[in-house]
Amino acid sequence: MIELIAKKHCLGRLFSGHPWVFAGDIRPAGGQVSDGDQVNVVAPDGEFIGTGFFNSKSKIPVRLLSREKCEIDEGFFRQRILGAVNFRKRMGLSAESYRAVWSEADFLPGLVVDIYGSTCVMQNLTLAMDARKMMLAEILKELFNAEVVVERNDVHSRQFEGLPLQKGAVIGVLGGAARVKLGNMIADVEVMTGQKTGVYLDQIQSQIDVASFVKGRRVLDCFAYQGGFAIHAALAGASDVWAVDISEDAIATCRKNAALNDCTKIRWKAANVFDELNTRQRGGEKFDMIVLDPPSFTKSRDKVEEALRGYKEINLRAFKMLEPGGMLATFSCSHHIDPEMFRSTVLDASFDARRVVRLIKTFTQSADHPVIPAIPETEYLKGYLFEVV
Ligand code: SAH
Repeated sequence: MIELIAKKHCLGRLFSGHPWVFAGDIRPAGGQVSDGDQVNVVAPDGEFIGTGFFNSKSKIPVRLLSREKCEIDEGFFRQRILGAVNFRKRMGLSAESYRAVWSEADFLPGLVVDIYGSTCVMQNLTLAMDARKMMLAEILKELFNAEVVVERNDVHSRQFEGLPLQKGAVIGVLGGAARVKLGNMIADVEVMTGQKTGVYLDQIQSQIDVASFVKGRRVLDCFAYQGGFAIHAALAGASDVWAVDISEDAIATCRKNAALNDCTKIRWKAANVFDELNTRQRGGEKFDMIVLDPPSFTKSRDKVEEALRGYKEINLRAFKMLEPGGMLATFSCSHHIDPEMFRSTVLDASFDARRVVRLIKTFTQSADHPVIPAIPETEYLKGYLFEVV
């Protein structure tokens, strides 16, 4: 097996469990290694760190798959996927729809697997995972009793690995949307055209939690996507629900999902939340619960200031629209914004709105998106539930 020697500066990170070996972390491999080869990464003194596959086109040419010297073959992948499944069983996760494999957080960098009933959606985000697509699909079909295995490989980051963007069924035939239970609601999940692999599975627990506070209350769900917060709120007895998303397609899906769940009291609007909050706040509208679940406002460290301004603006407007005793469920999925930074931004907004708040609850990603502290990127979703006193 070809050995690549890691430089001193990255040893702490690699030995503590982070799997990314950047191009600048290793001595030039010379001509002896080809893309797709399995390589061992060792410290300058020869101590073994881990093994993975090589891709010269990536800024992260090796993502370590194992900390033991082994051949990474079909049996290896089967065991790793089973490990992810067993972890979820131990955590008591028994949903019909869930994330079964989450890349680095399940020690399978580059592989994401989401299950929607008998439909399995796979993302192969590295050269190594792409090269083994069919083999992985066969394992998934067998382990999850899947009728269809779909690849959603239209993810922008694949370009950094030199891979084309593509999507489609790799096993079976996809017959339209997958009708499944998501938390307490029923949804038709469009796995080929929806955002991510269809829905935001990481927010399902928060949707259930928020709904437990809304009985008899007026709710505004901002950045609603397919209506998870709005529909859970309506099902939990909210008196009146508004949901807003900029995407017409998302709103169309919301309407269909609401009908599936017999929710007649939700009103939908395709609009920019920044404008919508502005207009409604100026018009003196009031709510008892406002949910703010925006997309990531920054994908890079140097845009953090700008992102914080965005968070502050929407949170400020929301606080101004809450009745006394009203609640704000506010989220950030930007990895570069840590929980403390986010919380102090929201509290700045409450100060500017002259609202005193009580912290009721903190939120994180659902348990099928495990956090590995040695891999900070795995901890990205944070949220707070504040009550205006
Ligand atoms: N709350 C959803 C997930 C939201 S994802 C859930 O729990 O499933 C973020 C959503 O924000 C996307 O649907 C996207 O279409 C929408 N969006 C992005 N920018 C927006 C804007 N400026 N105004 C309104 N919606 C926006």
